[in-house]
Amino acid sequence: MTLADLPPLREVIARHGLSAEKSLGQNFLLDGQLLDRIARVPGPLDGALVYEVGPGPGGLTRALLGAGAEVIAVERDRRCLPALAELGEAAPGRLRVIEGDALAIDELALAGGAHIVANLPYNVGTALLVRWLGTTAWPPWWRSLTLMFQKEVAERIVARPDTGAYGRLAVLAQWRTHARIALPVHRSAFVPSPKVMSAVVHIVPAEQPDGVTPKVLEALTGAAFGQRRKMLRQSLKGLPGALGALAELGIDPTRRAETLSVEEFVAIARTLAR
Ligand code: SAM
Repeated sequence: MTLADLPPLREVIARHGLSAEKSLGQNFLLDGQLLDRIARVPGPLDGALVYEVGPGPGGLTRALLGAGAEVIAVERDRRCLPALAELGEAAPGRLRVIEGDALAIDELALAGGAHIVANLPYNVGTALLVRWLGTTAWPPWWRSLTLMFQKEVAERIVARPDTGAYGRLAVLAQWRTHARIALPVHRSAFVPSPKVMSAVVHIVPAEQPDGVTPKVLEALTGAAFGQRRKMLRQSLKGLPGALGALAELGIDPTRRAETLSVEEFVAIARTLAR
């Protein structure tokens, strides 16, 4: 059997009894055209390595294989493995499935150099994003991130200063990547349909500014946005050297965190790291 001969996903799900499990955050995508559009977000994948987290019944995996990728997939729900094995037979030598928890896997050894693509439950997706954005080595081990989030989280990742969505996640994402919303996804595209809308975010590594480490920036943004309504002179009081850094850089300490640009956060972090 080839990829083109595979039965519709609904049939695969019914035959393998893959009813969506709420506890695993399962909301499946079945629309082949939408899945192909998501698989195009990372760019041409012919011959490229993709690390997919949470393939479930394999809709997105099928689209990635269809685009010519070699896929390494990690899925914690063993009920999905037979359906994924069938998919592997239709793309010989191009799909490796690992049963396990993506939060506990040595990704670098498994999938160094891969494009990461995932449609994950909200809590797992955000935890992995923060980890992938926070690697010490830069450029990171991954080539790009194509991730489904609920729309509100997607907006927080790409948010600009002086907006309600701008916060720690925006700064930690944008200080050394280009992040954009690639595709809004209507909630009706999922089975079962969640209450909220979603969006696919595309993130590619950019140059890392000199003299700043993720650790310092994480501490700074944690303090600044921990009390986002407060003035910086109040919220940064407990961070050694921070008020001095503001004075040195000529940043008004009566401003609030959400008014600072990503570049200003980077400048403060650089001063703190000296
Ligand atoms: N990719 C499929 C799709 O788009 O239809 C399934 C998406 S469903 C929202 C999320 C999938 O991630 C489920 O199959 C679930 O079992 C899996 N999953 C949840 N937590 C996981 C984890 N920590 N590690 C690996 N897979 C996980």
